[in-house]
Amino acid sequence: MLRVYALSCGSLEFDRSLFFPAEAPGTRFAAPVSSYLVVHPKGKLVFDTGISCEALADPAGRLGKRVASLFAIRSRASEDVVSQLAGLGLKPDDIRYVVNSHFHFDHCGCNASFARARFLVQRAELAIARAERNRYNAKDWDHPLEYVEINGEHDVFGDGSVVLLPTPGHTVGHQSLWIRAGDRQFVLTADACYTREHLEKTILPANAYDPAQMSHSLVMLRGLEERQGIQLLYGHDAEQWHALPRAPQPLI
Ligand SMILES: [Zn+2]
Ligand SMILES: [Zn+2]
Repeated sequence: MLRVYALSCGSLEFDRSLFFPAEAPGTRFAAPVSSYLVVHPKGKLVFDTGISCEALADPAGRLGKRVASLFAIRSRASEDVVSQLAGLGLKPDDIRYVVNSHFHFDHCGCNASFARARFLVQRAELAIARAERNRYNAKDWDHPLEYVEINGEHDVFGDGSVVLLPTPGHTVGHQSLWIRAGDRQFVLTADACYTREHLEKTILPANAYDPAQMSHSLVMLRGLEERQGIQLLYGHDAEQWHALPRAPQPLI
């Protein structure tokens, strides 16, 4: 039987129009940043690693001036993936797999802490990050880590309980995580779907890599929820996040 924990990695504050491009700029929006821990009999897996701790002390130095000017980090001490794991009695070296949904700074900022894990990332995402010109920050992901290129769906433990689900469009190789635990099923959408409102109204953010593909992924996720009763856990939905049991309480 699986155990899953929702790990709080602080929050970001920014202009709402970044998430809702049809709205006029000028309203602030607070988005939670999350990681998840999946405890499987064959090993422990972390989904996304949140924002780098260095970015708290020196946002412009770590994130770059452009990103730091758009996003204000609102995280308290211990709201990072390593501290959250420590609260559960775990060290980064206890983690066998790390899955990065994609390489935006709020999803892979603490990758360097997991030196002994295997990183499962879609091939297309790795390829673009390794290309000479791209918008990713090498400080987040480009460390001597074991990156495994995944191409499409991937059953991590071979028993159907934890499956990587490609949801491209937000970035070229974005992926979500499908978790089956007994009669409960979840999909951790990450940025394939920021909030419930994005799902219900098929709202695409201004920064989508491929809007048509992102729309397709969003419709696919909505189908999983409507037709199969699978619970979607959105990437940055404050209302949903605050209602979820969070570590040290298990989600399941
Ligand atoms: Zn993103
Ligand atoms: Zn994000």
